[in-house]
Amino acid sequence: MSAHTVSAALLAFCRSLPKIELHAHLNGSVRESTLQELAGEQLKLGGAKTLPECFKLFDAIHRCTTIHERIQRIAREAAEDFAADNVVYLELRTSPKVHLEHGVTKRSYVDAVLAGLAEYQAACSAVGQTGATVRLLLSIDRREDAAAALATVELAAELMPRGVAGIDLSGNPAAGELATWLPALRRARSLGLALTLHAAEVFNPGETAAMLDFAPERLGHMCCLDARLEAQLAASRIPIELCLTSNLLSGSVTRLPDHHFAALHRAGHPVCLCTDDCGIYGTSLSRELALAGACFDLSPAALARLCRDAAGYAFLPADERAALQAREAARAAAEAAAAAAAAASAAEAAAGCQSLAALLAWLRGHRISQRLVSVSV
Ligand SMILES: [Zn+2]
Repeated sequence: MSAHTVSAALLAFCRSLPKIELHAHLNGSVRESTLQELAGEQLKLGGAKTLPECFKLFDAIHRCTTIHERIQRIAREAAEDFAADNVVYLELRTSPKVHLEHGVTKRSYVDAVLAGLAEYQAACSAVGQTGATVRLLLSIDRREDAAAALATVELAAELMPRGVAGIDLSGNPAAGELATWLPALRRARSLGLALTLHAAEVFNPGETAAMLDFAPERLGHMCCLDARLEAQLAASRIPIELCLTSNLLSGSVTRLPDHHFAALHRAGHPVCLCTDDCGIYGTSLSRELALAGACFDLSPAALARLCRDAAGYAFLPADERAALQAREAARAAAEAAAAAAAAASAAEAAAGCQSLAALLAWLRGHRISQRLVSVSV
């Protein structure tokens, strides 16, 4: 079987699992149909791209999402699409962008994203559904200077009551230096914002070691490590957001079976599977799980456990995270109880057959009723 194909049954099973998505970029999660409509041209989504090609495509997407109503629309559609894939908790991330020619400031950009997410929640409520829980992370773009990074952090802190849960560092890994954004990241930490950093997408041992020393709540990717960094990561126990298709198509890993998911999962390191940019790479969280299942020979129980464990890495206040974990554990327990009841009923039926068989054997042995014994089981 090709590393990139999964059976329909496995994909259906993964779709049925309630899932937690912790690493999804708003603009990278844009619907292809929406992008073609907004761009008015054919932009090639899906398929292999080099990292520079990915960032060119991101720039093309960003050119299409420069006005408030479009930003609101792609945020609403992203929430709808993840929920349709049975994602029950979603952390969406985006860099607040400035398009002064369209009256878009960092603040109004994030307002538009939050309006899109609120629109999604309102549509769910209108039909009596809870919908997916969605939180927003604001990303510092690696092209930004220290002041711009700090402005993003202050904005995130102000919008925490409206669903902003943390700060991400992302963008072209060839751009900028960690030292530029460290003051902003420290400020975020002091304000109670959780932190995740895109790390080791390319081999940059000095920066990766410094990121591990900084000890954010989560790290993204961690593809390019040497033995020393692997040991440092193992000791840190920092949960890693892993994106199989993204890493493969952008060339951070060369073969899916060689993806570092296998070693981290085997070692019991906390990991979660994520999509990164499901629009750009033509994937879904269900497909990422199914790929992991097929490539790394994971049982259905192991796949379900991956989904439940991810709830523990969510950027939620401790009580809300505990509630999410409890809800997922209860759902898993109910499923396990249903499976156990089905197994017990099958065992009971088998045991019943066995006792009847034993009785008939006894009757045969005591020649009590040949007629009864001749009644077949
Ligand atoms: Zn990413």
